[in-house]
Amino acid sequence: MRLILLGPPGAGKGTQAAHLVERLSVPQLSTGDMLRAAVAASSPVGLQAKAMMERGELVSDAIVLDLVAARIQQPDAVSGFILDGFPRTISQAEALDTMLEEKSLALDAVLELQVDLNALVERMTTRVSETRAKGDLVRADDTPDAFRTRLEAYRKQTVPLSAYYANRGLLRPVDGMRSIDDVSQGLLSTLNLRS
Ligand code: AMP
Repeated sequence: MRLILLGPPGAGKGTQAAHLVERLSVPQLSTGDMLRAAVAASSPVGLQAKAMMERGELVSDAIVLDLVAARIQQPDAVSGFILDGFPRTISQAEALDTMLEEKSLALDAVLELQVDLNALVERMTTRVSETRAKGDLVRADDTPDAFRTRLEAYRKQTVPLSAYYANRGLLRPVDGMRSIDDVSQGLLSTLNLRS
């Protein structure tokens, strides 16, 4: 199954993607994770992306498209994947369409976690304090300023993707304001699957 998981920062995409990975036995392809790994490794891509990521701005399409093109060719992604954090702009969505068409592949669905954008800053603040309390590392872009920039980028650049995929009959909106388990159930039932 080839899926996109769409939703604003802090909506719980990572958590839900992990459940879907287990249930569907396909890998989660998170461009954020790929970029963070590149930054940690100080690779050329990481060096280019670091400052933009810390500010909460989107990195260039060229960088992200190269990462995704290489990743979807890996053997573990041949029978399916869950894209998390990609596409984030209409031009990325169009590039993904081309990439898949060239391989005669198609998306099965675009799962959209619908959350109240105004509740997200509070959710992020809670997540940061919980992470700190556990003694885990807090993401460099989980500061209030960077988070607001990420939300703004989502509003301006990613929200139009809902209409893009709705027009293609692929969009499956799911209420993301419920408990983690209920959201997981909601995602599976929209795919006509049981937990
Ligand atoms: P995420 O882990 O998905 O929240 O992504 C963290 C950061 O990585 C974002 O704020 C962007 O700076 C960058 N990023 C991740 N995915 C993309 C993408 N598809 N396009 C552009 N920038 C991205």
